[in-house]
Amino acid sequence: MQPLGVHTSIKSSLLNSIEEAVELGCNTFQIFLHSPQVWQIPEFDDTTTEEFKKQRKLNKLNPLFVHSSYLINLISSNPKTINSSKYLLKREVMAADNLEADYYVIHLKDNKDMEKNEIFKKTFEGFNRIEDLKGCKILIENTAKSKITANITDLFETYEKVKTENIGGICIDTCHLFAAGYDITKDEGIKRFIDEVQAYGDFSLIKLIHLNDSKAQVGAGIDRHEHIGKGYIGMEGFLNFLSIKELSHIPLILETPKKRLEDDRKNLNQVRKILKKLRS
Ligand SMILES: [Zn+2]
Ligand SMILES: [Zn+2]
Repeated sequence: MQPLGVHTSIKSSLLNSIEEAVELGCNTFQIFLHSPQVWQIPEFDDTTTEEFKKQRKLNKLNPLFVHSSYLINLISSNPKTINSSKYLLKREVMAADNLEADYYVIHLKDNKDMEKNEIFKKTFEGFNRIEDLKGCKILIENTAKSKITANITDLFETYEKVKTENIGGICIDTCHLFAAGYDITKDEGIKRFIDEVQAYGDFSLIKLIHLNDSKAQVGAGIDRHEHIGKGYIGMEGFLNFLSIKELSHIPLILETPKKRLEDDRKNLNQVRKILKKLRS
């Protein structure tokens, strides 16, 4: 069965993320390690870490994804920011590895005034500082607007250029893909996506799908997530996308708008409906 889950909250405690995932009937989940808008990252004590690993095993939540925080910028024009970013990136990846996360997902920053090769070089330097990990691999996510990660062709080039031992593949976010101009509501958009993955990369490199509808129109270059079926991708769009057979075993994580747990439940049910239809 294709693993399906949501991004859950560690607001009250790390263990809360597991409780939410279980409550929602998920078999995989994604978390932040700390508030994604700040530089501070807490140390998880051994008791919490052990309990987290135990509860996760008990509830068979696989794989576990950790999402990077938003401040990390390895190509900033400010050397101080680069240093803080390298430090935080390393801390987050090591902490994810320590929690036995399978993957750590990151969006790379773009800079319109910087050449691709310089971006690759600086980004590689950031990743290269991370020591060998026990099991966690880093995934690079596509974005809505960027010269290095919005088009699938660029995303795979970037992956190749910044690759280290610790980088294990890519993550495709449907909202970002759509906003970057891939109209997955239509056969041509699906075909373009498949052709580019096959020509410039490989489906085996896709380890995670972020399933989000889009508040913005196709090609808008704007990253605004919407509830499944309520945006411009719509139920038909997701049905098209998820019927790509090479994706049929790849874990799906929702990052749809969330005020209360009920919002996740509704979105998960929409996806379950689609998956049921595809399997029938
Ligand atoms: Zn995403
Ligand atoms: Zn997004």
